[in-house]
Amino acid sequence: MRRVGVLALQGDYAAHRAALESAGAEAYEARTSADIESAEALVLPGGESTVMGSLLVRFGLMERLIERIRDGLPVLGTCAGLILLAARIDGREQPGIRLLDVSVLRNAYGRQIASFRARVTTALPSVGPIEAVFIRAPKITDVGEGVQVLAEHDGFPILVRQGGIVGCTFHPELVPGAALHRWFLSL
Ligand code: GLN
Repeated sequence: MRRVGVLALQGDYAAHRAALESAGAEAYEARTSADIESAEALVLPGGESTVMGSLLVRFGLMERLIERIRDGLPVLGTCAGLILLAARIDGREQPGIRLLDVSVLRNAYGRQIASFRARVTTALPSVGPIEAVFIRAPKITDVGEGVQVLAEHDGFPILVRQGGIVGCTFHPELVPGAALHRWFLSL
């Protein structure tokens, strides 16, 4: 069984933990450098990317996290987690990991009240069409050459992969079935 850490500084890490467990992983909440060290894969949850980024820096976790992901630690970032992974954020500075070669625009669909669900198709046979929940979601406005687009909505990529780095703009942990988590664990 794979030991998967869910970064648990802020955001909806509990739902990810439950989804990972239902997908057969040994999931735990990661808060310390020892937790980052022992992860065989990592999930960065949705929440507030500015808060998570600042806490990663303040708790001295950011540098080692970047190093581990650069060295091949598989990572799934959802919504704010994707923003943390993105190389370019709104063209602005905010603390981030910046290893996924995409540009993102935060809160691109509007405020909390403009949150929505949509049925989307994915290019992943084991995942198929899924219900995607967008909550103050970002848009991926540009992807680099090494980035595969695995699902789109309204003409924008919503699920992307660059080697072991996977990012999505929606919340796969909030729908039953954990299909995307299962696929991530199979990488
Ligand atoms: N709007 C949040 C941000 O910019 C992301 C929202 C979410 O993770 N649901 O960090």
